[in-house]
Amino acid sequence: MLVEDDPEIAKRLTEGLREAGFVVEHAADGEMGAALGGSEDFDAAILDLGLPDVQGVEVLRRWRKSGRAMPVLILTARSSWTEKVDGLNAGADDYITKPFHVPEVAARLRALIRRSSGKSTPTMTFRDIELSPASGTVTAAGTPVDLTAHEFRLLNYFMHRQGRVISQSELLDHLYGYDQERDPNTIEVYVGRLRKKLGRDVIKTLRGLGYRLG
Ligand code: CA
Repeated sequence: MLVEDDPEIAKRLTEGLREAGFVVEHAADGEMGAALGGSEDFDAAILDLGLPDVQGVEVLRRWRKSGRAMPVLILTARSSWTEKVDGLNAGADDYITKPFHVPEVAARLRALIRRSSGKSTPTMTFRDIELSPASGTVTAAGTPVDLTAHEFRLLNYFMHRQGRVISQSELLDHLYGYDQERDPNTIEVYVGRLRKKLGRDVIKTLRGLGYRLG
């Protein structure tokens, strides 16, 4: 999720991060950001501290108060070191100063998501499958596997939640933004393709519940 009031910055970040393989929801003010982040699940949030209505630090306090533990990367003005300190004290995990480069934001997000899922190595493994979120590559028994962006995103999501049953609607939320058209059948299609490429028993279907890796 991205909370940013500046339309230019929001557009640049949203487009850049989508290109880098993220699904991005955008909230244009603090009130909306606080509500969205308090009610929906996100892998991570980028939070601008200088917002027109509710200040970013206050948005962050509300999330943390309501038990939201997602990693939060704050955006701050270069000159304002007190802002950084306030943000970190309010529960932010990392900060980046404006102006910034989108690839750096993407790299920091990946690191935050990796750490929050308890993984410190940049490569995720399951059986003989290895996935590198940073380079967007997958190998099986050392051989590169060619995946489409959606297949990769889906496998990445499973890899971070090994052993957990994941519902179809959760996968749809992760694969598509709210503004994108979504068809539940696509999940079955992508899972089918992943099985074809990685092995039939890699992803199990649990009837009426969802899917599980392994
Ligand atoms: Ca701002």
